[in-house]
Amino acid sequence: MRIRTAGSLLAALAVIVGACGAGPSTSNAGPVLATASVAAATTFSGAVSPNVSKRIDLAPDLYLRQIGDGAYVVTNAFTWNGDTWFGNSLLVQMADGTLVLAGTPWTPEATQAVLGWAKQQFGESSIAKMVAVDTGYHQDNLGGNGALLAAGVPVYGSDLTVKLLAERGGPGIPPPNHVFPVADGLTLSFGNEEVRVIFPGPSQAPDKLAVYFRARKLLFGSCMILSGDAVGNTADADMAAWPSAIRKLQGLSVDVVVPGHGDRLDPGLIQHTLDVLAQTH
Ligand SMILES: [Zn+2]
Repeated sequence: MRIRTAGSLLAALAVIVGACGAGPSTSNAGPVLATASVAAATTFSGAVSPNVSKRIDLAPDLYLRQIGDGAYVVTNAFTWNGDTWFGNSLLVQMADGTLVLAGTPWTPEATQAVLGWAKQQFGESSIAKMVAVDTGYHQDNLGGNGALLAAGVPVYGSDLTVKLLAERGGPGIPPPNHVFPVADGLTLSFGNEEVRVIFPGPSQAPDKLAVYFRARKLLFGSCMILSGDAVGNTADADMAAWPSAIRKLQGLSVDVVVPGHGDRLDPGLIQHTLDVLAQTH
């Protein structure tokens, strides 16, 4: 695997900075998610997400949706402050066999369950070829770090995420152990396949990152991409900068866009996010 900071990315996309941030330590989901129940999560609609070929339930609060060859959206429900929140992360097996986890489940326990499943699915040695990317300091973006680091998985994250996690993050969550300057982003190379970690500017949080799998036209937008009809918790958001961050993502060629929360997985989520933000002002 080759790693470089994203000078080329910045050249190609000008400045891509993205952050998803919300309230105390976590959720940026809107009221729709805030009032959803675990039972509702099981009623996911294939009609809404035509790219889903299979759903795999690992636990009552944890399931995967296969969205392509070796690509899985991981959805984990987490109860916080009396409400249940659903968070997405993304697991992709690259052409050279490496597993890339963009974002993490809420908890080390759920993350451990995903690692256990990955061993069964991809082989016992697959975890030794896994890397993870924290997409922000909120718990739904890196709450699984403890399990990943214990398993020896390199965890990438920005210097701003490390700073915000130390200052405001959830207690007991270890920081990423491979740190890059947030403004630079990061490009990871696996054989001929590249993964771009993109910071398009402050959005739902000051440090939110998107992860782009160019060869697959697959974008993990994390919490800067909205799927619901409301912004949700904006306590940590930069409402003025957020739309311009999203507009920088519009230059990417995408077939599938994965939001931080919600079932929709279509490219229309980018414009949808801009529409919801425009209505919020
Ligand atoms: Zn979120």
